[in-house]
Amino acid sequence: MKNLFTLIFVFFSLTGFTQNQNFAIAIHGGAGTILPENMSPEMEKAYSAKLEEAIRAGYEILKNGGSSLDAVQKTINILEDSPLFNAGKGAVFTHDGENEMDAAIMDGNTLGAGAIAGVKTVKNPISLARKVMEASPHVMLSGKGAEQFAKEQNIELVDPSYFFTENRMNSLKKAKEEEKDQGYSPTPDFKFGTVGCVALDQNGNLAAGTSTGGMTNKKWNRIGDAPIIGAGTYANNLTCAVSGTGWGEYFIRATVAHDISALMEYKGLSAQDAAEEVIYNKMAKLGGDGGVIVLDKDGNIAFVFNTKGMYRASIDKTGKLSVAIYEK
Ligand code: ASP
Repeated sequence: MKNLFTLIFVFFSLTGFTQNQNFAIAIHGGAGTILPENMSPEMEKAYSAKLEEAIRAGYEILKNGGSSLDAVQKTINILEDSPLFNAGKGAVFTHDGENEMDAAIMDGNTLGAGAIAGVKTVKNPISLARKVMEASPHVMLSGKGAEQFAKEQNIELVDPSYFFTENRMNSLKKAKEEEKDQGYSPTPDFKFGTVGCVALDQNGNLAAGTSTGGMTNKKWNRIGDAPIIGAGTYANNLTCAVSGTGWGEYFIRATVAHDISALMEYKGLSAQDAAEEVIYNKMAKLGGDGGVIVLDKDGNIAFVFNTKGMYRASIDKTGKLSVAIYEK
């Protein structure tokens, strides 16, 4: 009997089977025109450090046997609390100088989902999205109703002034200047800065989440793709978990996140091929730009974007950490 166990152990060791864990995690902090020449070494360091802090926190949860939903939520909370990203604290300004945030989370195990749109006082929008999924009979809440629900669920609310950052205000001013010459466009050219996370836990459950302030200078309570299940966010244990960042109008029209999952489910494509097909051949051809992070049910990770850069990080199934910003 002992010999049999030894034999099995040697077999798995030789095949490399024991080296792979069955969990993994990936994040993005937005895609866009992110060029080394526009970044100071200090900024580069600050972004990389925050991405690493966030992904390590999520990874720790997975390593300790926690759920992918917890990992996604907690990882995004860290990015939401940083002024560096366009989510939570660092959310961009609307045309009227307000911050309106959108977020969604999806459970690949049950296909349960929760989303919120246009909230102005919720410190961590992804946490409210999770509450919508777990404590309401609905999938998506918006505006004042979402904030009322947040209050009832004891979700932390803050004064809107909490979301003020000089940087984002300057971006709004710049966008309004451009508007005078070129007409209204909610600046898709700026780096987008939305945050997202996809995780696979030790029970084989996938989860995806996305949180954003939307686009600088947006008007009329515009809502982007992040809170729309199947556009900016999707997870299904049969295939993959996806979170997107980019020009939301195109992600909605190309149903980016669900299409990636569908290509895997119905056509047997890999996560990488499915993401390339949808980003390069569908979304980009419509005229949009942006990117996705995809994590498949076996722990394979794909980062695909048609912009100059995408803030991103992963800890893969071998436990390897990668943090990157630019194209190459
Ligand atoms: N996708 C977001 C939106 O359109 C923007 C972003 O990714 O930064 O609202």
